[in-house]
Amino acid sequence: MGCGAEEKPLSDNPLTSERGTVSEESQKILDRSQSQTTKQHGNHEGIFEFSGMEEAVEDARRNRPSLNSPRDPSRSPEAILPSAKAPHSQSQPLDEAAIWEAGIQRYEGKHVTIYSDAPRKHIEDLPKIFDLAYQEWCDYFDLPPALPIDGLWKIRAHVLANPESRPRFEKVGLLPQEVPPFANGYAQTKAIWIYDQAIHSEYYQRHLLIHEGTHAFMLSHFGQCDAAWYTEGMAELLGTHHWDGEELQLAYFPQSKEEVPYWGRISLVQDEVESGRSLDLGGVTQLSISYQEENRAYAWCWALCALLENDPAYRDRFREMAVLSGQDTFKQQFRAAWQADAPRLAWHWQLFQQEIAYGYDFGANQLNWKTPRPLISAESVQIQADQGWQSSGFSVQEGQTIRLAATGRFQIADQYNGQAREIFSEAGGVTFRYYDNQPLGTLLLMVFPEAATLEEVPPFQEPTAVGIEREWTAKRSGTLWLKVNDSPAERNDNQGTPEIEMQPLSTP
Ligand SMILES: [Zn+2]
Repeated sequence: MGCGAEEKPLSDNPLTSERGTVSEESQKILDRSQSQTTKQHGNHEGIFEFSGMEEAVEDARRNRPSLNSPRDPSRSPEAILPSAKAPHSQSQPLDEAAIWEAGIQRYEGKHVTIYSDAPRKHIEDLPKIFDLAYQEWCDYFDLPPALPIDGLWKIRAHVLANPESRPRFEKVGLLPQEVPPFANGYAQTKAIWIYDQAIHSEYYQRHLLIHEGTHAFMLSHFGQCDAAWYTEGMAELLGTHHWDGEELQLAYFPQSKEEVPYWGRISLVQDEVESGRSLDLGGVTQLSISYQEENRAYAWCWALCALLENDPAYRDRFREMAVLSGQDTFKQQFRAAWQADAPRLAWHWQLFQQEIAYGYDFGANQLNWKTPRPLISAESVQIQADQGWQSSGFSVQEGQTIRLAATGRFQIADQYNGQAREIFSEAGGVTFRYYDNQPLGTLLLMVFPEAATLEEVPPFQEPTAVGIEREWTAKRSGTLWLKVNDSPAERNDNQGTPEIEMQPLSTP
């Protein structure tokens, strides 16, 4: 689908030229704090490449700072911010009269000064949005109350009507030479530039402002991160927002396409998967700044961050990563945090990209991993109709044949043709609606491998429709997972617990 307006990684990414914008003083501080880390591993592979990483992981484990322990004072915002008290320290004094005469208007917020030559109605709400976003950033990153002092952090934002406006901004000192040509946005520690998006979508205007603002905020408070997927993924995660005119919510998971005009990340991932271009964990975390596939890289980075942010099994670990993002050991620390369950995450990620949808219900689709027992005699399990994939608690061997038989009626929807009406189903499904080419309510099974390493995680395999009863031979070994078919966004109108009997007919 068309989500044309997007920044290109090369031009947007703050990593490319940010060094030049940090004052000498704060650069020394950055250098000092970086040299305090024990070891430079200097590898550039993706986060989830584990080969030969034991030593680094051990190092990272030993040295991993805790959010609860006192921070290295040299990494506090005051230390990193270039002359934190002067909001526009990196530029010479501006000639406001010349700026005005050039047709550039100034809009003042508490945490941002916006200069723009775009129509007033495209810009006038943005200072308020930015100030609300600032509060959200502080809350999200759980900054100690004393650190983000009101008025301390203020940046300059520039909204150019279009690329032809560049000379106008350059002439009055609002677009320094070190800012390269960019497609839609560009960020430094204390300044951001975007092209007016309100001509396409007011949503996307705010999105891009918050995306670039997130870069600036994270650069200011945590320093540079050398994991491009994380940098862009976080900017996308927080940039994706909900705004009702009063309240702003960042890191919002869109419930419908209409909420986020011109955004298109979910549709992009769906298109990629449908076209056979899935990306495994290693693939996403190795996406580089030079990845020129337009919006697709951002869609992938956003989707991975959205899973890590929204699934309760990952959220705390994921949020802890931000404060470490400017450290040389970031990648190692990230690996260490996921070392134990990386194969499960890799599998979950495959599944998530298959099922991603507007309104995806993370609570109803959390995976309930269990240590499985081999299925050697007839067993029966109950599953919840209002939950996605659920572990049966039993494992099967490749080549093993079993008979599955399901009993019990359950509710699969509470509406029919727009009218409130409870729709019941048995495990054969009901044909009034389909999801993923199967009738709603059909019992489905899948074998989830219990892989010990990332390399052992096999590619995704389509689920098998069981229905009321079926004899089935396992194509691979692993734990048997079950669910009744429904959209991952529409589980909350389901009710009931069908029972499934599993009887081994052969052993491999
Ligand atoms: Zn970006």
